[in-house]
Amino acid sequence: MKKIAILGSTGSIGTQTLEVVRQSAGLQVAALAAGTGVDKMERQVREFRPAVACMWTEEAAGELRARTSDLDVRVTAGMDGLLEIATLPESQVLVTAIVGMLGIRPTIAAIRAGKDIALANKETLVTAGHIIMPLAKECGVAILPVDSEHSAIFQSLNGEPAGRIEKLLLTASGGPFRGYKREQLADIQVEDALKHPNWAMGRKITVDSSTMVNKGLEVMEARWLFGTSLDRIQVVVHPQSIIHSAVQYVDGAVMAQLGVPDMKLPIQYALFYPDRRPMPGKRVDFFELGQLTFERPDTDTFEGLKLAYRAAEAGGSMPTVYNAANEKAVALFLDRKIRYLQIPELIGEAMERHSVIADPTVEDILATEQQTYEYIAGRIDCKW
Ligand code: NDP
Repeated sequence: MKKIAILGSTGSIGTQTLEVVRQSAGLQVAALAAGTGVDKMERQVREFRPAVACMWTEEAAGELRARTSDLDVRVTAGMDGLLEIATLPESQVLVTAIVGMLGIRPTIAAIRAGKDIALANKETLVTAGHIIMPLAKECGVAILPVDSEHSAIFQSLNGEPAGRIEKLLLTASGGPFRGYKREQLADIQVEDALKHPNWAMGRKITVDSSTMVNKGLEVMEARWLFGTSLDRIQVVVHPQSIIHSAVQYVDGAVMAQLGVPDMKLPIQYALFYPDRRPMPGKRVDFFELGQLTFERPDTDTFEGLKLAYRAAEAGGSMPTVYNAANEKAVALFLDRKIRYLQIPELIGEAMERHSVIADPTVEDILATEQQTYEYIAGRIDCKW
């Protein structure tokens, strides 16, 4: 029996991870953590009976404690609670399914405690990949990608050394505004940006997919996960989302992973790696599909992707600025305080005024995040 702990269990990746647990023998939930959603957490605690459950605020934790007093569960709160869950002696794998840089400290703590990481929280690698990857190597733990593109690359690599990679082909659906020109993006409303053509995901990542910032974050994530230079990572727009990504080898061979869009496959693969378990569900039907198509990304219209390459090239603390500026700009857009095209504008501005810290510590990263939030707040004249 493999015991797992999940940070962000009530979100899109978290609930799909629990579906995988539900439908496969051999997994047990040791601990769960969420933000403030007590109703969902109570249901999960009753069904999966973890030893520990953590809520971000004391208030939510108090509420959960009262509601689950008939169960044998210890309820904790805040960053201390997340760190405790990340390092729980009985769990073997930590699933990082929270949003944002909040995941950095628990991920580092879990690696130090010898836990394998099923990593969905891409912001962690984008901002602290230079700390996390060497630490994982030193501690002998695996970083198992949950993001579907990175899982596809991981599956296509299947143990081949990085030296044999000529190119990583990172596919992108193109989002709901594929083919639009800049003028057409000016009046995009929140409801339009939340309609993803192929994937059902959390709100923030759905907006990020529409701006192609998500693909930019994935480029940076891939760079750390697979030890590949930026010029060897090529984004390919593939609207059907059937090829989840591919590896081109030095001899010209291309290995890809295909499947219907369903996050449960990469989640299950990460949890059972190196085993491949049966999974019910829809299969790719090539006759029904008819054709698979490919396009170059339009980085003049979708500046978020261009800015990501620029941030990655600058390196150091710049990816943190890119990520933090985007996070706040998306929150403002979702609150209807800024227009859609202000998202890349604000990212670009925040990057412009930042002086790069070459090899940032976790403290530098968190301070840079805070300064970027403050900069964006000042620009829009609002408080968080
Ligand atoms: P969601 O917004 O759906 O879920 C976020 C989860 O984090 C919720 O459980 C939420 O709890 C919890 N959370 C929020 N704040 C805190 C906090 N302060 N402390 C503890 N838990 C907190 O996000 P997604 O599942 O979409 O995304 C999670 C991560 O996975 C992101 O990094 C994303 O980029 C990545 N990812 C997601 C994919 C997807 O298909 N959704 C695909 C690939 C990667 P509550 O509900 O209580 O607020």
